[in-house]
Amino acid sequence: MPAARTPAKTRGAPGAAAPPLTLDTELTFLKGAGPQAASALRALDLRSVGDLLFHLPLRYEDRRAVTRLCDLREGMEALIRARVEVADVRFAPRRVLLVALDDDSGSGLLLRFFHFNESQRAGFVAGRIVQAFGSIRAGRNGLEMIHPEYQLVAHAGELSVEDRLTAIYPLTAGMTQPRLRRMIGQALDVAARETGLRAALPGLGDPDTLTALEAIHRPGSGADAEALRALRHPAQLRLIREELLAHQLCMRLLRRQTRERPAPPLDGTADAARALQAHLPFSFTGAQQRVLNEIGEDLGRERPMLRLVQGDVGSGKTVVAACAMLAAARAGHQAALMAPTELLAEQHQASLRRWFEPLGLNVVLLTGKLRKRERDERLAQVADGGARIVVGTHAMFQSGVVFARLALAVVDEQHRFGVQQRLQLRDKGPAGTSPHQLVMSATPIPRTLAQTLYADLDVSVIDELPPGRTPIATVALAQEKRGDVLQRLGEACREGRQAYWVCTLIEESDEIEAQAAAVTAEKLRESLPELNIGLVHGRLKPDQKELAMRDFKDGRTQLLVATTVIEVGVDVPNASIMIIDNAERLGLSQLHQLRGRVGRGARASQCVLLYQGPLSQAARARLDVMRTTTDGFRIAQADLELRGPGELLGRRQTGLVGLKLADPVRDAPLVPALQPLADEYLDRHPHEAQRLILRWVGDVERYARV
Ligand code: ADP
Ligand code: MG
Repeated sequence: MPAARTPAKTRGAPGAAAPPLTLDTELTFLKGAGPQAASALRALDLRSVGDLLFHLPLRYEDRRAVTRLCDLREGMEALIRARVEVADVRFAPRRVLLVALDDDSGSGLLLRFFHFNESQRAGFVAGRIVQAFGSIRAGRNGLEMIHPEYQLVAHAGELSVEDRLTAIYPLTAGMTQPRLRRMIGQALDVAARETGLRAALPGLGDPDTLTALEAIHRPGSGADAEALRALRHPAQLRLIREELLAHQLCMRLLRRQTRERPAPPLDGTADAARALQAHLPFSFTGAQQRVLNEIGEDLGRERPMLRLVQGDVGSGKTVVAACAMLAAARAGHQAALMAPTELLAEQHQASLRRWFEPLGLNVVLLTGKLRKRERDERLAQVADGGARIVVGTHAMFQSGVVFARLALAVVDEQHRFGVQQRLQLRDKGPAGTSPHQLVMSATPIPRTLAQTLYADLDVSVIDELPPGRTPIATVALAQEKRGDVLQRLGEACREGRQAYWVCTLIEESDEIEAQAAAVTAEKLRESLPELNIGLVHGRLKPDQKELAMRDFKDGRTQLLVATTVIEVGVDVPNASIMIIDNAERLGLSQLHQLRGRVGRGARASQCVLLYQGPLSQAARARLDVMRTTTDGFRIAQADLELRGPGELLGRRQTGLVGLKLADPVRDAPLVPALQPLADEYLDRHPHEAQRLILRWVGDVERYARV
């Protein structure tokens, strides 16, 4: 069957007759998909027609009824229909198109566009009718919508409302929802002509994959909207089980295949820990010591270690990894540490250098922004084995980087890396061997759950924080208290404290998120003119991001406005205030990660969870958990209990291991039944097993040998 993720065929010669479309066809052959669209979709890892099928909606919008302007409330999503009163381009300070609307209810609404072209602007002629869908925010002059999807007509009679729910997809710049929706529609039509996605899969029952995909992308007018929103529609459940099964299969194979290879036995972990300890200003906690013992035993064997170390933010995972790296280096091998961002890689290099320099050991940093000469020099050191300790981003494990004797690969903040990256890493040791693997994660998942989720890894837990940490005081405040918060924030910053202001949005694109953060930063600059306020979000170029972080770290900015990009690993010890705007939108694990950015220095820290009422019961419960505990594992447990099936907390909330639809926490109860099924597939249905892995995880080459 044509797997969804096989590499797309290349485009035929110009003028050649178009071949009939299949799921394998490159998606540029679809109507309305030019090279520009294709490159936008490549950013989402979508290349073939079949890939589109598995690009699943993030959520659904209800555009089945028009809301009158007088009934709009901040925070709601609505379809509106109104007259253009006036349209105006302002510079405030960026170019922005503002369109004032009104309707017969006597109320108004402002549309705000940051990106627009001349014909778009010219279209907003006074008196024309706009139908727009978007979320409602409170602006300076009343309610507004930022960058809504809209239609513009002369008479309301030309407009219609949807008769079914509208699927909303993860997007990227250069692509729009309607366009992507049309392309996915075409892909479904192609799939309907093939049989592959209809084939029965043992143990998974009805509906078949294609029927399920249809129901999810194009819910019928009679579809159960509540079930779809709650991700509990039978079609969704079917695909969730299928995806979880694919991942179980993949992890089992990965472990099997990795463990077939030898690894160099390293028996110096305890000695390395002692040597390191002699120069450290602190001693290891009991938990660190225990985990070190577990790692030491693994490393002493001739089979590759496959171990996950879980430990809450600040529990001291890095130094534990450092002991193992030191053991490898002292035995004449190489050890590498991979971080999810350049900033974190640099942070790690600084720590390792501090620890290893007294021992006469050099630490080599490999990042993308090195000049070519520097980079070549360092690559040569890595290739001839001169560099014993190497730190870098995941680029380090891509082809072109050759290690002479890699014996240990450490991966930090594991949830940013999928199975694919772990595979690349497996192949970085000398031919025929596999390096030991140590994966570190701060995503606190209850131990039993971790064992099911990471079926290929043994799990160690650092369940104790180093002594002497000042606790973080957390309060939840309604948006009405925003003025007070701003005032106290201003005072604190004037006293030399630093703060994060995190903007949370559950949006389908980085771009909209970035815009919203920019707007917030602007407003904060108006309210707190005496402060230097920085801004960091996912749409900045790496060096701009870096600069914003560095300004904050070095104290040139006192307040850093950020999107949730800030959540992983960043360490600015002087920052002692965390304000999370619209905290009700985030899940517990994300709130916990964000809060973990403060409480790292000697000063007592505060976390303010600003929320927009009225709170749902679940949101209230989450904020209560955050107020009453800082223990990551208790929070994870509560998360598991509180996360009703009805909660869709945004793309970044899920995706621990790059899942498309399943959420390992929410869907954990489904996993146990799938484990024996996975064994059965590997023993009796290898062909189907392979098909599922290709469909959901990809990477044809390596998985072809089930
Ligand atoms: P995380 O587990 O979040 O990656 P880190 O490894 O960054 O945590 O450690 C957080 C801080 O705690 C670092 O500054 C580290 O040097 C320090 N640290 C680690 N272990 C101990 C310990 N046993 N006692 C005191 N401080 C420690
Ligand atoms: Mg860390």
